[in-house]
This record gives sequence, structure tokens and C-alpha cells, in this order.
Amino acid sequence: MRIGLDFDNTIACYDHVFTAAARDRGYLADKGPLNKLEVRARVRALDGGEQKWMALQGEVYGKRMKDAALMPGVADFFTACKTRAVNIFIVSHKTSFGHFDENRVNLRDAACTWMQIQGFFDPDGFALENKNVYFNNTRLEKIARIADLDCTHFIDDLKEVFAEPSFPARVVRILYDPISAAPKNDMYDRHTDWKSIEHTILG
Ligand SMILES: [Mg+2]
Repeated sequence: MRIGLDFDNTIACYDHVFTAAARDRGYLADKGPLNKLEVRARVRALDGGEQKWMALQGEVYGKRMKDAALMPGVADFFTACKTRAVNIFIVSHKTSFGHFDENRVNLRDAACTWMQIQGFFDPDGFALENKNVYFNNTRLEKIARIADLDCTHFIDDLKEVFAEPSFPARVVRILYDPISAAPKNDMYDRHTDWKSIEHTILG
């Protein structure tokens, strides 16, 4: 088994980070926690919303990366894979720099530092090898990497990745969809939590 994982919003959770960043910029009128999609909808509805949303993403995935949290259940999944000596690859569509980011934070470095702090590369932690982390400039490059790595499974929060014609047919497509936003579809196996993904793949 060779399991490929997306990074942003699959392994790393930013819901609270998007909420805080949008609130600090004065984009949110309502109080209380929101998920990423709710923040996106509110920011996009503003004047120049698309540009505001892109800038906000640059800030969240860069300067505020340290505030991200592990998705619930991810740690158990990694531990279960480590116990079974299952190969794990992280394959992420992440450019080096965000749009409109005045701080020019390297997003890939920020993600790697965060993973290091979370114990991803620690032999006593998840024991992931550095070389098993891949960042790609485009979605198509990411899919080519998944094919090249000969992944047996791929887990992503974005159904559009699985819909690309070049996505290899032999790879089991697992959609991580914690808020059940995506429709049921034969193209992917939809799960709302990591426990269920772990059970499906590892038994
Ligand atoms: Mg993602």
C-alpha cells in the first residue's frame, strides 16, 4: 500500500485561522467560529472579494501557518500507518509564495516547519521521511506526481482533484469532507472523519 495525502485542509486544519485572519481585517460582521468555506463565502461577497480572499489565503498559509491544527484523527492515522509500515506520501498543490503577500513568506517552508513542530519527521512521532513530502506548482503537476509515486490511495478534501481527466484510474479516491459539502458521487469514496478513512483503508 502506498497512501498519498493532500496537505491543506486535509491534514492541516485552518478553520479557526481563517476566522481570526478575516476578523482582524474587518471582513466578518458576525461573531462565533466559522469554517473555511463559510469565511470564503463571506469574503468573496465583499467588494473586490476575490482578491481579498486570495490575500487572506496567503496570510493564513504563510504568516499564520503556525496557528494551524492537526485535523482530528490524523495523528491516529499516521500512527496506524507507522505500526503497519505503510508508505505515506504528502502531495500538495502549494506555490512557494502566496498572492498579494507583502510579507513574502515561503509557504512551503512554513508548512515544513509546522510539520516538524508537530512531530511528522520525528522517529518517535510519525516518522515520515522528508523526501516523501512533495510540493507542486499546479494541480496537474500534483496529479502527475501521484501517478509517478504509484499511490494506491489518495486522500483529498477537493473533489476537483479527482475529477481531472489525468487522475490515474487505478488510484482509490478518498474525499475527506468533514462538513458533507460534496454530493455523493461514484467518482470518490466520501468520508466525514479520519477514523472512518483509517477503518476503510487499514481495516
Ligand atoms: Mg486541500
